[in-house]
Amino acid sequence: MASMMKQRVVGVIENMSYLVCPHCGDDHHIDVFGAGGGATVAATLSNRFGYDVPVLGQVPIDVRLRAGGDTGRPIVLAEPDAPAAAALTSIAQQLTAKGRGLAGLQLGLTPAGHRPAAEVV
Ligand SMILES: [Zn+2]
Repeated sequence: MASMMKQRVVGVIENMSYLVCPHCGDDHHIDVFGAGGGATVAATLSNRFGYDVPVLGQVPIDVRLRAGGDTGRPIVLAEPDAPAAAALTSIAQQLTAKGRGLAGLQLGLTPAGHRPAAEVV
């Protein structure tokens, strides 16, 4: 989709990446859906677009994240030390550090003197 819309892909975010072990805490991640999917997608996109598409983060499964969304109190505010909150904050910091340029955006402009192919007789 990004390719079709001429949008630059900033990165990959692996959502529901793992479950923090309820016994060991953040030192033990349970790969509920396997591991390495985000890295594979990032490598595929980097290869396809010809520029680096990094994995920006891995957000673990956390019931508090969903609950916070339902109640309107995001986990990053309610429990900023939770692993999911820390992952989201890190991703947000990476995105805000990048700034926002017009590179890669389609502006819908036609240069003066250029006629679209459909109008060429
Ligand atoms: Zn464990």
